[in-house]
Amino acid sequence: MPPGFHMEVAPMVSTVQVACPDCDLRSVAIERFLVHYCVDVDEYTVSFRCPVCERCASVRPDRTKVLLLITAGVPVRNWALPDELTDPKRAGHDPVAIDEDEWRERVDDALRDLAD
Ligand SMILES: [Zn+2]
Repeated sequence: MPPGFHMEVAPMVSTVQVACPDCDLRSVAIERFLVHYCVDVDEYTVSFRCPVCERCASVRPDRTKVLLLITAGVPVRNWALPDELTDPKRAGHDPVAIDEDEWRERVDDALRDLAD
């Protein structure tokens, strides 16, 4: 390959047709996407920030579409499940303990305060 020669192997994709769940937008620029790969469960998800409503959304496309996005230049971020999930001291415990009666009482109080 001659010096300075640049070979473009990625398809020239500038937008992706995807529906924003919060508005009617159907086309999002490729720069707004990020591929997330969970190394523990070997699954890909794709997130994007809608340019109209600015909310984030995630989709779980099939691997062929994920590979197309990666080939088009979308960055990939690896992530892992928290280690605490496999810690025997912590596994099996419900981490969120809510006293439902107290919680309902507080919600009722807050609603009464709003009504006053
Ligand atoms: Zn939107």
